Amino acid sequence: MFRYTSDNKRYHTLHYHLMNKFGEKVYKAVIDAGFTCPNIDGKCGYGGCAYCYDGAGEFTHGSAFTITEQLSKERERILKKSGAPKLIAYFQAHTNTYAPIEVLQEKYSEALDFPGVVGLSIATRADCIDEDVAALLSEFSEKTYLTVELGLQTIHDKTAREFNRGYDYEAFLYAYNLLKEKNIRVCVHIINGLKGEGKGDMIETAKCVGKLNPDAAKIHLLHIVRGTRYAELFANGEIKTMSKVDYIDTVCAQLEYLPPETVVERITGDGGRATLIAPLWSLDKISVLGGIDKEMALRNTYQGVKYIRE
Ligand code: SF4
Repeated sequence: MFRYTSDNKRYHTLHYHLMNKFGEKVYKAVIDAGFTCPNIDGKCGYGGCAYCYDGAGEFTHGSAFTITEQLSKERERILKKSGAPKLIAYFQAHTNTYAPIEVLQEKYSEALDFPGVVGLSIATRADCIDEDVAALLSEFSEKTYLTVELGLQTIHDKTAREFNRGYDYEAFLYAYNLLKEKNIRVCVHIINGLKGEGKGDMIETAKCVGKLNPDAAKIHLLHIVRGTRYAELFANGEIKTMSKVDYIDTVCAQLEYLPPETVVERITGDGGRATLIAPLWSLDKISVLGGIDKEMALRNTYQGVKYIRE
């Protein structure tokens, strides 16, 4: 049986991790703190990543509300599922380390001061982590349960150039190592199904991420979302999305290369029904999660079986 589970899962879920850490269910409360992104405002590029629509914060309440107001709304939403919930304030939209240090400090502090908040998750890009930002994150990491969510998506620079990520794998490694030197918890994001990539490329990405031994990883499925460059390519037949069978097959193979200690915080995409063009099968998340469990059982495999500790 897999070591990091209490419910027969064959990979290390966020639910298991948080239950162990906090002794109860903890909920993520999403925030749009009003930042932008260097890949949108021209510092690094214009137009953003080819799959990105408006900084991917579509489930937030929007930056017209203060952080405190957004957290109040999130708490109300979560209260329908749970009394007196513990919350992780998740700075989700755009690039949440892309502002002067004083602004970052003020926004993170506002979230941390909200009743019931027991941690922060901060989503950002590798090229927006420097010594000063890492020092600030380290201060917050000493005060609370902090996770930096670092978008990698792929280790392959050719793919990254195609979707306009704006930095190379070396830049990612620099930021990752800077954070890890300061003992900051890091969650690495990858995306399956990017234009030009096959199963071997995606597994190679998982292998390299596994070798980094990250605290956590999120595996996403590429979504074609209205209003993005990929939506245009999809309409012209220049990009295809993964089938459910291929996605499940790839994820099961990738999990084998991640260390068993790495928490798998997400294992499928989370597209909005109103904006998602394809693949529509991904809207049935329960079926995808169930498919992964079933396939891993059929293969009699577990997270980390092919991971080689160095
Ligand atoms: S880095 Fe994030 S916010 Fe910026 S364009 Fe890419 S996906 Fe969008």
